[in-house]
Amino acid sequence: MTRCNPYGYATDAGPKHLMGGFYGPEYAGDQTVLKDGIHGPAICTEAAVARMRMVCEIGHTGPIMDLCARHVRELTARMSDTCTRCVWPDQARGVNDAMDRVMKQMADARDRQDAVTLRTLGARLDDLRHEMDGLRDRGVIRKVPLRLVEVS
Ligand SMILES: [Zn+2]
Ligand SMILES: [Zn+2]
Repeated sequence: MTRCNPYGYATDAGPKHLMGGFYGPEYAGDQTVLKDGIHGPAICTEAAVARMRMVCEIGHTGPIMDLCARHVRELTARMSDTCTRCVWPDQARGVNDAMDRVMKQMADARDRQDAVTLRTLGARLDDLRHEMDGLRDRGVIRKVPLRLVEVS
């Protein structure tokens, strides 16, 4: 029998391919967190009943997943979610990376109790947030719903 593998862990993939490659490890929640608090392998113990994959309307697909009935239901319930590849075009990724960098620098500045730098960085972060909103307003960041489709 094939075991249910909703997270792609046993494949080449790892957390990067969580939920068919459309979700980061932060979406796994407690399902992938071991007792020690470190992300562990999220392996479902049920037998798979279906081969399915996530597809967005412009044709992005995730890897094929073998799923048990419960995970088919669970992933179907997430249909309101959006294709992260459509949501994260390169442009948005660049802004997001910049935000990450600024936030890291802010943490450092906080450690040093450097209020001046912190304020400057805070303003920069606001700018980046606005830039991100702008991308959303202009439709560069698109929210494209995903469908879970059966693969034969
Ligand atoms: Zn399962
Ligand atoms: Zn897409």
